[in-house]
Amino acid sequence: MAKQRILVCPICGETQQETSVCKVCSSSLDADGLLHAEGSIGPWWARDQQSPFSPGMTYDHIAELARRGDIERHTILRGPTTRQLWKVARRVPGIAHILGRCHNCGEHVDPHARACDACNVPFLTFRDRNNFGVDVTVPSEGKFDGMSSFLSDTSILDTQSTPLTLPTRSEESKHAVEEGIGSPQFHALQRKLRQGGRTIKMLSIALTICFIALVFVVLALINR
Ligand SMILES: [Zn+2]
Ligand SMILES: [Zn+2]
Repeated sequence: MAKQRILVCPICGETQQETSVCKVCSSSLDADGLLHAEGSIGPWWARDQQSPFSPGMTYDHIAELARRGDIERHTILRGPTTRQLWKVARRVPGIAHILGRCHNCGEHVDPHARACDACNVPFLTFRDRNNFGVDVTVPSEGKFDGMSSFLSDTSILDTQSTPLTLPTRSEESKHAVEEGIGSPQFHALQRKLRQGGRTIKMLSIALTICFIALVFVVLALINR
């Protein structure tokens, strides 16, 4: 019996027996199909629990979905204009106006308008497939890390963009958070540990007193 070859769909990542059409994402897996699929990859995502592993799409594709009604005002999107953070479509620059809303002020607008009549914000398109909107500079050229031609863990973590930072907390609220962290079981365990520590202290004091008493008794016996 011939061995069945297993393949990973390059588009959705599903593992399956060799086939010309992916059983999950229906992508055509021949050379032409893959070229087409690669050409439609871009930095825009619509949140979709049915196909969570799909690559991002181009601006033109997501704009078309908005025009067709496949993306609605409450659909959750991310892209270069949201710095890749999820946002409701009616607030997303580049998409909201297609859905009839100004992303800036929420005013009803004509989908073909070039700017908002109410707040004057321009309605732009974002067609650069390589710009994810997470950095202002162009990505630097790739380099080998040390002697190895393989990517190391650190170079995977190494990014050019400024990492997300959380606002700094005051000492007081930090303390409150530390106190607040942990389940009730954890707090019970903490209390038990503290109680255990107290018991040990008491026992060692009692032991010391007994020892001193013993010394006195021995001395008294010797002196008799
Ligand atoms: Zn697939
Ligand atoms: Zn506006």
